[in-house]
Amino acid sequence: MSDSFVLPEGLPKPIADDLDGPYWAAAARGELVAQRCSACGTWQWTAEYICHQCHSFDLGFEPIPGEARIFSWQRPHHPVHPVLVEACPYVVVLVEFADADGIRMVGNLVDPPEGDIPIGAKVEPVFEHHEGEPAYTLVQWRLA
Ligand SMILES: [Zn+2]
Repeated sequence: MSDSFVLPEGLPKPIADDLDGPYWAAAARGELVAQRCSACGTWQWTAEYICHQCHSFDLGFEPIPGEARIFSWQRPHHPVHPVLVEACPYVVVLVEFADADGIRMVGNLVDPPEGDIPIGAKVEPVFEHHEGEPAYTLVQWRLA
């Protein structure tokens, strides 16, 4: 199954904590959520203990509305970790959600085209389920 992953196994694994745990649990179910303030409705990512808009501590997680589009990208050619020696080049994307206060998430682009990646292109999430202990799910992106 590992050959379906964008990047090889052997990279540091994400560790969910009490702050971003709901995000990782949702990803494991194939759902994409982000933090939203229950007091003022502001979206924010990454997760924080306080709303950066109204300073409420009443924060939850909800499915992100609207479309995801590529805000920026890069194609690393030099490995930043030993297991990436054979994986370069790959494409890292910064994905923006205009309908969720412009929050942005980082991921990798699955099956990237040659050359430039179109800024503003619509993308959809791809859920990479990694087995093992602990199991975890990475959210990657595919041009829609
Ligand atoms: Zn708020």
